Amino acid sequence: MSADEAAGGPSGRLVDELVAANRILGHEGVLDAYGHVSVRHPEHPEWFLLSRARSPEYVEAADIMTFDLDGAVVGDGGPVPYIERFIHAAVYGERPDVGAVCHNHALAILPFSIAREATLHRTINAARLFGDGVPVWDIADEFGTSTDLLVRSIDQGRALARRLGAGPVALMRGHGSVVAGEDLVSVVRACLDMERGARAQVDLLALGPPVRPTDAELAAPPDPSPGGPGRDREWERLCRRAGVAS
Ligand SMILES: [Zn+2]
Repeated sequence: MSADEAAGGPSGRLVDELVAANRILGHEGVLDAYGHVSVRHPEHPEWFLLSRARSPEYVEAADIMTFDLDGAVVGDGGPVPYIERFIHAAVYGERPDVGAVCHNHALAILPFSIAREATLHRTINAARLFGDGVPVWDIADEFGTSTDLLVRSIDQGRALARRLGAGPVALMRGHGSVVAGEDLVSVVRACLDMERGARAQVDLLALGPPVRPTDAELAAPPDPSPGGPGRDREWERLCRRAGVAS
């Protein structure tokens, strides 16, 4: 029996949803071989569920491990975990409202993590989550210039989580991003919206100054469809495209 089962275990449905989130984000190109997505444990909020170190596109239920908010494995040993699990641990620790987290190296956002004078901000409807501008976390600010940019400790994770603040997304200089939301469906949708928004903003550079959004548009909540049929419709589509049950 695994440590997780011994502790009462998360529902199989949530594990299935986490597997689906891995497959979707891998299939859609948000996650490469190294990014990862996690969910907070339903019965133990001080724990979270995350795959062993495996390409997300191939994650299965048997790969899911349980970690505490220091990034330590709950239970004895087990397979090799992701190095950057501390990102997830720190965000869950700092943000009680967060139920799911994704760390990714999505190509579309990387230029905005190093550009000196460009900030991701609201342009198209899908970019609502960018708000007034996405913060960029520079690991060198607190940890010097000799890191390899990877988040290898809980202290580094907590510094990133502080830069994320109360928002849904923060960029990591020269590396990627962290996306946080209330549940897995929200985080998957936010990751895809992040990519769409970044691509639209880059495309816009060739076309000149844009039409400014109205004040009402700028004040709209970040999630255009927080519940209801639109959310279900998108989740079904993403699951089918990735070849998993919705
Ligand atoms: Zn990374």
